Amino acid sequence: MDVDVVVIGAGAVGLAVAAAFARSGRETIVVEAAQGIGEGTSSRNSEVIHAGMYYPTGSLRHRMCVEGRRNLYRYLEERGVPHLKRGKLIVATSESETKKIESIHATGLKNDVEGLELISGSQAMTWEPNLRCTAALWSPETGIIDSHAYMLALQGEIEDNGGFVAFKTPVTRIEHLAGGGFRVVTGGAEPGAVTCRRVVNSAGLGAHAVARTIEGYDAALIPKLVLAKGNYFGCAGRPAFTRLIYPAPVEGGLGVHVTLDLAGRMRFGPDVEWLSTNDPAKVDYTVDPRRSDSFYDAIRRYWPGLPDGVITPDYSGCRPKLSGPGEPAADFRIDGPELHGIEGLVNLFGIESPGLTSSPAIADEVKRRLAN
Ligand SMILES: Cc1cc2nc3c(=O)[nH]c(=O)nc-3n(C[C@H](O)[C@H](O)[C@H](O)COP(=O)(O)OP(=O)(O)OC[C@H]3O[C@@H](n4cnc5c(N)ncnc54)[C@H](O)[C@@H]3O)c2cc1C
Repeated sequence: MDVDVVVIGAGAVGLAVAAAFARSGRETIVVEAAQGIGEGTSSRNSEVIHAGMYYPTGSLRHRMCVEGRRNLYRYLEERGVPHLKRGKLIVATSESETKKIESIHATGLKNDVEGLELISGSQAMTWEPNLRCTAALWSPETGIIDSHAYMLALQGEIEDNGGFVAFKTPVTRIEHLAGGGFRVVTGGAEPGAVTCRRVVNSAGLGAHAVARTIEGYDAALIPKLVLAKGNYFGCAGRPAFTRLIYPAPVEGGLGVHVTLDLAGRMRFGPDVEWLSTNDPAKVDYTVDPRRSDSFYDAIRRYWPGLPDGVITPDYSGCRPKLSGPGEPAADFRIDGPELHGIEGLVNLFGIESPGLTSSPAIADEVKRRLAN
């Protein structure tokens, strides 16, 4: 074998998985279609470290988020990666939204999320004078992260342990070797192949397409892919809040929220724009300025003082969802040998939010599933 482990995709999740294997002494390489790390969804998100109160108790999203968050904070401290535990308020502006945040609180308690507290609207408005709300859920464990610095730290760890990331190396086919193991065939300007004992398909939006190239893989085990774009708007001027402000969640997303980056700049989003294509290559990441009307409406529900003309189209990301509008939200899929019967292979599907937060826990889980 050329190496022990090949990880496909150099996003936050792929890099975390590769770093976990490399750390434990396994010879590991990452093959990445793009020319740098984090060129996919990992650089098109809110950069929020989620606490874990939204997801059904016992689901992978719940377990990976809570465990991932705890491990992530530890890792960021140890490696000196910029981050800040700003905390967040999930705010209600009506009776029905109060019921929603009470239910998120109850789920959060079951999910073992630390420090959650239901507070009155007046208390929240004392903390954040620009806010208007009738009640709020305070989550002190929520934070923000410099996701690129995190991925650089992971890449550094892979390299320090003898591994590397091969860029401009798109995987085109995965074949089985007689006697076990794989031959991962790559295209690009310099086509090639690498043999290995273990393969982790962490190709994000491309994971379904990669799975379809695995020799003998049962197509019925590949879930459907539904794309939901999330658009962001930036906001000029001084930040109106010191904490992250989220409304009650909406179908497909957490609602148009206010995040603050590490420099203190405010941005709004993401919304949920269901796409009619399920081909990731067809996603247009341009933010349509006409969506600003719906942003003003959504934000003014909790920040009525938002002045006219201050928000501008920023960037967008795309969620690799496994369920569509009107369907119950799907869980992450970490499909190992126990599902598909192929020793040494894990496919990661549907790693949307909170995938960044969950990345250290997903990495440990993948390692567990490929321990043999
Ligand atoms: C709008 C939005 C907001 C979000 N906000 C948050 C948040 O605040 N907090 C949070 O925790 N999570 C958030 N997420 C989720 C988080 O961004 C993702 O779960 C995470 O970045 C996924 O990382 P990944 O490594 O799986 O995928 P990616 O970052 O997409 O990486 C996959 C990589 O695989 C490569 N690839 C694809 N096909 C091939 C191939 N054939 N060969 C080789 N390489 C290939 C791609 O080029 C890409 O670099 C958000 C997601 C979205 C869309």
